[in-house]
This record gives sequence, C-alpha cells and structure tokens, in this order.
Amino acid sequence: CGIIGYTGNGGDVLDVLMNGLSGLEYRGYDSAGVAVTDSSLAIHKREGEVSALESAVSDSTIEGLAGIGHTRWSTHGPPSDANAHPHTDCGSRVAVVHNGIIENYQELRRELEADGHEFTSETDTEVVPHLIASALETGADREEAFRAAVRRIEGSYAVAAVFDGSETVYAARHESPLVLGIGDDGHYLASDVPAFIEYTDRVVYLEDGQFARVNPSGIVVTDEQGAVVETAVERVEWDP
Ligand code: GLU
Repeated sequence: CGIIGYTGNGGDVLDVLMNGLSGLEYRGYDSAGVAVTDSSLAIHKREGEVSALESAVSDSTIEGLAGIGHTRWSTHGPPSDANAHPHTDCGSRVAVVHNGIIENYQELRRELEADGHEFTSETDTEVVPHLIASALETGADREEAFRAAVRRIEGSYAVAAVFDGSETVYAARHESPLVLGIGDDGHYLASDVPAFIEYTDRVVYLEDGQFARVNPSGIVVTDEQGAVVETAVERVEWDP
C-alpha cells in the first residue's frame, strides 16, 4: 500500500508515477493504478502487479502536468480492477487515492447514495471523491471541497486528489504517513521516500491533521483550520 503524487515540468508524469509505484512495491500490494490530469483525467488501474498496469498504459499516450498513483492492499472489497485506486466521482472531475481505513464509510455511502451518487466499487475510499463532488456542487472551490471531504471521514488515512484541468495535487493525512519531496523542476508526495528518491532528497514530513497543496512552483502546508504552517525541509540520506 502506497501513494505517489507528482506535479511539475521536470519529467514525464506517467514515468514519474510508474517509477514511484515500483519504489513502493516493497510495502506489499494487490493492485495498482494511476491518474494523470490534463484538460480531463486519464485513469488506469489493474488488479495485480505494477507490471500489469505498465502493459495497460504502454499503448496509450498519457500526458499531463500532474498525477497520482497507488498500490493497494485491500481492506474493503476484494482485489479487482474496479476496487483498485484511483477512485472517481460520477462526472470524473476528481481522482482520489487513499491508504488506510475509513471507519464511517457505510454511513457516508448511504447518505451519498440517497443523494443520487452511484458507486462503482466496494471500497471505503470511494466515498471521498463523491464527497468532494457534492461539495463542488454546492459551490466550494477545489481546495475547500477536498478539505470538506476530509473533515467528514473518520479513521486512518493518507489521501491525495487531483482534479481535471488542474496541476495541483491536494493531500492530507491522519495516522498514515505522507512525505513531500522538493525537486528542482517539480514536487512530489508519497507514503515513503523510496518512491521519489531518484529525483530528490529534500523532504518535508507531513504531520497528523495537516493538509498540503502541491504545485509545480511550490508546496503549502496548512493545519485543519486552513492556517499556513511553517515547514522544515530536511535532507534524507538514502541508499537507493
Ligand atoms: N481501505 C482502502 C481499500 O481497501 C485502502 C487500502 C490501502 O491502504 O491500500 O481500498
């Protein structure tokens, strides 16, 4: 189970994401997937090894400025293409990856289904893109919608989202690790440093309750209330 995210001008997004997933394989997983955002979202996901996902994406040209990837260790719903992450809302405006367990997902899912949301997986995670979509419908901007969704979920999570037409990656964590990487030409986020160590060794560790807005030009970390938090950039020593 692992997350990788990238936004920047330094490299091919899909390459960075696939390398990131390979760097996370040691954590164990049963499925893998990626979402790359351009004017629309391209999402590819497969049960099985990262190599199965690689063959699924090798035929298509997937270009964009930002993206997220995931290796899944299923907790809710068996390993399958449909249950693999990223998950999306009905209109495919947002793609979400998540590590951890959302304890109140049944209650949230019932509420969303009563509101007309159609689910396509058995995961706990899928409530998140639908919550984001609901917030967008009430007029929230993307960041507000992401924060509103995260405020509703209980349990453990490292969660990241990208939206169609936007080069920003949004992330949050609670009792599940997330680290940001500061590169020369772009920015990274991951569950663990091996996912991006070939690109940068400058990192910022996100703490419980913090949110991050990651852009090609920089990162902004905020607390639960949205106040900007000063962060310390550390250099990690890692023998890849
Ligand atoms: N609970 C989520 C699922 O079953 C995330 C699992 C994980 O951490 O990979 O899809």
